[in-house]
Amino acid sequence: MIYSADGLEINYLSPAEILDWPPYSDIPEPSQRYEPFVQRLDDVGLWTPSQIAGRRWSVGCVSLEITQRCNLDCTLCYLSEHSEAVRDIPLEEVFRRIDMIEAHYGKNTDVQVSGGDPTLRKREELVQIVKRIAEKGLRASLFTNGILATRELLSDLCAVGLVDVAFHVDMTQQRKGFNSEEELNKIREKYIDRVRGLPLAAFFNTTVYDENFHEVPTLVRFFRKHTDVISLVSFQLQADTGRGVLRDRHQGITPDTMIEHIQSGADRALRFDTLTVGHPSCNRYAMAFSINGNLYDFFDDPGFTVPLLNATAKVNFSRTDRRSAFVVASLAFIKTPLLWKKGLQWLVRNLWSAKADLWAARGKIEKLTFFIHNFMDACHLEHDRIKACIFMVASQDGPISMCLHNAKRDEYILKPIAVSGAEGEHLWQPLTGKTIPTTGLETHQVNPKIYPIKFLRGRTRANAMRDSSYASVSTDSDLNNDIILAPDELQ
Ligand code: SF4
Repeated sequence: MIYSADGLEINYLSPAEILDWPPYSDIPEPSQRYEPFVQRLDDVGLWTPSQIAGRRWSVGCVSLEITQRCNLDCTLCYLSEHSEAVRDIPLEEVFRRIDMIEAHYGKNTDVQVSGGDPTLRKREELVQIVKRIAEKGLRASLFTNGILATRELLSDLCAVGLVDVAFHVDMTQQRKGFNSEEELNKIREKYIDRVRGLPLAAFFNTTVYDENFHEVPTLVRFFRKHTDVISLVSFQLQADTGRGVLRDRHQGITPDTMIEHIQSGADRALRFDTLTVGHPSCNRYAMAFSINGNLYDFFDDPGFTVPLLNATAKVNFSRTDRRSAFVVASLAFIKTPLLWKKGLQWLVRNLWSAKADLWAARGKIEKLTFFIHNFMDACHLEHDRIKACIFMVASQDGPISMCLHNAKRDEYILKPIAVSGAEGEHLWQPLTGKTIPTTGLETHQVNPKIYPIKFLRGRTRANAMRDSSYASVSTDSDLNNDIILAPDELQ
């Protein structure tokens, strides 16, 4: 048995258990959509009054991977050695997965249009995907490194219903000419300018690892200056999963030390323990008002915040229209007389402490949410955390926890997909993009080391670049000898 630093028993999944743990394939009745999650949280002792999951939403968000390809090679990438060679799944299958997300979790579910980088998908298909998500009443977020997310593309996506854009920018991406997170702020500013004026909430995602951990306070100070556009920042702690060249995280980087760094940059003791989001070992969450560049903790009084959460659990707040969110929140508060006294005390206290900034900002109040996401290593998946997971990936067989999906990604991305055509049902082959009759199925078993170098990323690419013999097996003719795919199928 393995124990944590504080003496608690940790139940890691064995390799066989990881393989056997299935996606959630049973679609609940519309009136029962919250039940499976509430039951799972209850099973692991996390169904408490401060738990936001299962109250405000039936799932935190669902990642819809519309391509496995990426135009970067991050040192902590969660994709697999095969990803770059996998063709974009058919649009028909993407639409089927969108419908499946709605059937499982209902309207207003957050759908992360991700990849790989989703902007590598054909532009008209990306527009159709976002449109379909919006038409189903779901909330579409574009998760991108920003390189191809031009103002024009973002405008087009807004026009069909995009709600948020989340930019991933950090030092793991090895962008040329940038040697620190502080230098990368030039890129962040460029992306902020692209969004400014669009009806779009902007998020920034940062992977935190040894080389940038010390820069977290500086980053928080930067985000504080841009809350007119940025409404959420997410820090994702290094995890040993996927194809990236970096592996184990420094032991000093934990959710608790991250909170200290964020608070240092916020110049404020924000509370990350008022609300629980899924499993506290996975997620920590704080929210602040931003007034005149200074932050004021929204969750500073659990005695008010927790009952408020329970009273407003089913209220939908707009993320793109702050005025409407304010009106909806005020109405919800007015309808909850039991909270009036505590709420007024909370309001007066905060207004008083922020009076100088309110005056300087002429009453303008923004919001900034902080999220710390502590992904698990692929070989250290904890049973209870998978059970309480709020963050799903839409696989072809149903939603599945992101950490579990990453630990066996190839099981999903290399699996042929049933598609229907004029001649009946066929199987779409991930490595060729071709369809074959269902009867002629062969699963391609390929060794990533013999992909052409352009398909290699992460450790395999690093090894291939060092391995002089690789060049001799990376030509088309050598490929033809070594694997069942014809060379033209890989081009
Ligand atoms: S199990 Fe992994 S993906 Fe799910 S909430 Fe925890 S860290 Fe996130």
